[in-house]
Formats: sequence, structure tokens, C-alpha cells
Amino acid sequence: MRPVLADVFAARRSIAGIAVHTPLVPSPYLSGLAGHDVLLKLEIAQPIGAFKLRGAVNAVAALPAACAGVTCCSTGNHGRGIAYAARERGLRAVVCMSQLVPQAKIDGIRALGAEVRIGGNSQDEAQAESSRLAREEGLAEVPPFDDPAVIAGQGTIGLELLEDRPDLDTILVPLSGGGLAGGIALAAKAIKPAIRVIGISMDRGAAMHASIRAGHPVEVEEVASLADSLGGGVGLGNRLSFALCRDLLDDVVLVTEEDIYRAMQTLYFEDRLVAEGASVVGIAALQACKLPKPKGPVATIISGRNVDMKVFTRVVTGQDVKLGETTIRGQVHGA
Ligand SMILES: *Cc1c(COP(=O)(O)O)cnc(C)c1O
Repeated sequence: MRPVLADVFAARRSIAGIAVHTPLVPSPYLSGLAGHDVLLKLEIAQPIGAFKLRGAVNAVAALPAACAGVTCCSTGNHGRGIAYAARERGLRAVVCMSQLVPQAKIDGIRALGAEVRIGGNSQDEAQAESSRLAREEGLAEVPPFDDPAVIAGQGTIGLELLEDRPDLDTILVPLSGGGLAGGIALAAKAIKPAIRVIGISMDRGAAMHASIRAGHPVEVEEVASLADSLGGGVGLGNRLSFALCRDLLDDVVLVTEEDIYRAMQTLYFEDRLVAEGASVVGIAALQACKLPKPKGPVATIISGRNVDMKVFTRVVTGQDVKLGETTIRGQVHGA
């Protein structure tokens, strides 16, 4: 059941022509900071603005021709990927989301022709609704991370990284449910066993980090974060992504909301790129000196750009950002 390198190569063939081989570009500013090349893998250049298109297209391509449609739960980008992939195949798509999901992401999914169901305050509730639809309406359910086709799809990033830079020493991967990190680690380590793959999460509600520590999937409280795409649990019945991350990640590092805030500014002002909070956790960890010293080139996945532009504007202009109960104190870049 656990995907292997051959599944990742097969995924690459199935997503070719829909998901793109994204650019890997140097960041002169971060390279100066790290003392080695720091490269940005621009998944923001995918047609849906996030890497999740890879796993979604691979999973939807594997559904039987006669299926009635597809459903999923999502913090936003998986839903967008499924909506896009379903539209490509002419299938009905229903995306279930919690109330914590930003409006920009809901609008993006509706614009692709998918139905959206909003309900509950957590990913778990959205998950329950998606499973109900699968049972009662006969839709195929594609989970956001704990699925072999999804993991193999995300793993294609690992292939591209090592083709473009065989000399990579470390890959920094935003980490939530672990489909991205598990897939990349599985592919990259099969090709280059010495490569280090480090998962990065926000310090509040880091479900995979807590689960690896506990030795089994555990629940954590879900709180609002600048890295909204990293919210949600790993699922108590996790079958694949937990074990992959536990076995293959060299480390899991946590960053604060302030670290993420500063990293969004850095990416914008130093590299001129717009990205969501989840995308910059690798940069945040580098800047906050939370990583072991690299011995060679480092790549980090700029995983998505589907940020709420009101929040983004406040961040880059150095204003306070209020998220649920907490306020992140504004700070002007370079001041
Ligand atoms: C889903 C997502 C992640 C985390 O991926 P997992 O497979 O859940 O670990 C990171 N960044 C963005 C932008 C995402 O949409």
C-alpha cells in the first residue's frame, strides 16, 4: 500500500500536461544568509497556485470512468486541485471545508465549477461530511494527504528537485498531514539516500510533530495561523503519511507566527514573490536559525500563493494581523 519510487515515476506520466515542472530559482538574499545556495521551488507557478494539483490530478486520473463524481475535505488548496482535476475529466466535484478556511480559497474553488460545503470548526468535521457524501451519494473520496496516489503525485516534486540540482544537500518542506513531505522524502531518498529532508510546521497545532513524538497519530487543538494551509490533524486512523514522515524525515522544526510573518516579508521584498504563510515556513526556519548548518545547497518548497490579499497587504506593510484570538504584532521589513 505504501507508495514506492516506481509509483512516483508513474504519477509523473499521469500528471504531465496538467501540472507543470515548476522552476527552481536561487534566492541571493537567503543564500547569503545560509552560506550555501538556497533555492526556491516555485509551486506557486502551478495552474491552481499550489502543489496540491499534482496529487489531485494523479488521484482523479486513477478513478474508474463510471464514477459519479469526487468529494474531498480541504483547507483550501486540495479542494482547488480536486476541482481543477475533476473539471479536466468532466466529473462532478464537492469540496467540504471548515469555517477556518479563508474566503479567497472558497471563491477559487467555486470559480472552477465545484460545489462547496462549509460546516464545522475543524478539518475533522469537514472530513466527516466528505465521508458522508461518499457513502450516501456514491462519490469517490480523495483524501488530502493520506492516500497513495496523492502522496505519489506530491513526490514528483522530489524527482524534479534532484533532476534540476543533483547536488542538493537539504530539502525544507512545509509539513501538515505529510503528503507533501512524505512523498518528497520517499522519492528523493530513493534516488539520493544521503539527502536530508526536514519538515517544518507552525508551533501551534503541529499535529505531525506531536504524533511523531507520541509514536502514534494524536489530536491537537486547531488554531488560526498565518500558515492556514498547515492546519488540521493527521487523522487518528492514518495509514500512510504518518509512517512515511516518522521513518523518512530527518527532523521536524517548528516556527512561530512572528517567524512566519517576517518570512512572508522576506520573500516579498527580497525575492519579489507573493506566497501564503504555509509556503514560507522553510524561510522562517532559516531566518530564525532553527536549522542545523547545511553542508551544501538547500531547497525549500514555496508551496502555494493562495493567500488572503487583505492579510498579505497588512503583513508586507508591517501592520498588526489579528487571527482568531491572537494578534501578531506588526513589524516593518528591514526596520
Ligand atoms: C496542503 C499544503 C501544505 C501541507 O501539505 P501536507 O501534505 O498536508 O503536509 C503546505 N503548503 C500548502 C500551500 C498546502 O496547500
